[in-house]
Amino acid sequence: MDDADWKDWRWQVRNRIRSGRQLAELLKEAPIAAGSLRAVIRTYPFSITPYYFSLIREGDPDDPIRFQCVPDPREVSFSLGGVDDPLEESRDMPVPGLIHRYADRCLIMATSKCMMYCRHCNRKRRWKAGAADRAPLRAMIDYVAATPGIREVIVSGGDPLTLPEKVLDEFLGALRAIPHVEVLRIGSRIPVVLPMRITVPLVRILRKHRPLWFNTQFNSPREITPESAEACERLVDAGIPVSNQSVLLKGINDDYETMRRLLYGLQRISVRPYYLFQCDPVRGADHFRVDFWKGMEMMERISRQTSGLCLPRYVIDVPGGKGKMSLQTFSLLADSDIS
Ligand code: SF4
Repeated sequence: MDDADWKDWRWQVRNRIRSGRQLAELLKEAPIAAGSLRAVIRTYPFSITPYYFSLIREGDPDDPIRFQCVPDPREVSFSLGGVDDPLEESRDMPVPGLIHRYADRCLIMATSKCMMYCRHCNRKRRWKAGAADRAPLRAMIDYVAATPGIREVIVSGGDPLTLPEKVLDEFLGALRAIPHVEVLRIGSRIPVVLPMRITVPLVRILRKHRPLWFNTQFNSPREITPESAEACERLVDAGIPVSNQSVLLKGINDDYETMRRLLYGLQRISVRPYYLFQCDPVRGADHFRVDFWKGMEMMERISRQTSGLCLPRYVIDVPGGKGKMSLQTFSLLADSDIS
């Protein structure tokens, strides 16, 4: 492999790490108790791009990058009572893969494929064998066209940037052609896990369908690299605002210093911190969950010392499909003279 290969997203895709043996060799460790690894990946497969793997600090079992991509036996052995679909997304699905929960917008799960399977994902249920790779996009377009109240469409997944460019272009074009659709939004982790995929031709396609907003997910300041910064800059330069939705994750970003560095780093690369999500009670990711009192304390401390531009809204998606609720304390108010 030479430098040109490394920078080529197709090479990165072809060389994803997907077998236990390969993983053990690269981690320079005995196969992660081969039996228990097999048990995990039978339920929750894994896939890691060489780029993302290269961010792991060798020999550190508590590395925040490693936690997000390497399968962990706790995914099948530890439970606080998480469920497969904590937000009951399937309840609000008028057509397969399209969630219509709020009147003015809908979310489309355009594919179940991702370049990397984040171990904390709240849609891990969709990785299982048998899940359709590609959703019925035509039926979704028809639904949006027949529902005039929808002004914003969020195209998510899986990761929608795993779709072939032609399919993505036509799909976005069909949505854009619906008169009442004012805004498109892409939800993708590609700038973080495979930044070389944000190529000039891909950005040209996205740019055609503006106003288009791009939401990504950086969870650790270590994910802010020259490559990921360049990917975000390319989008921003094309007039596509980039925002970030982190998930509060145990051992990854649940301490003041790390979160502060993450937020500062995002602002430095022109990515707006938008949401910090309380980790959903999803089966297979319970070991990532942080007590929300701890999260509130941390965010309050940060908000006292940080400019509003790099402060995300700390929210919990209330289980059972009840929507998002802000998590904030009012101690500043309690300390003041405001009546
Ligand atoms: S990229 Fe998104 S949908 Fe895919 S595994 Fe990661 S968090 Fe889940």
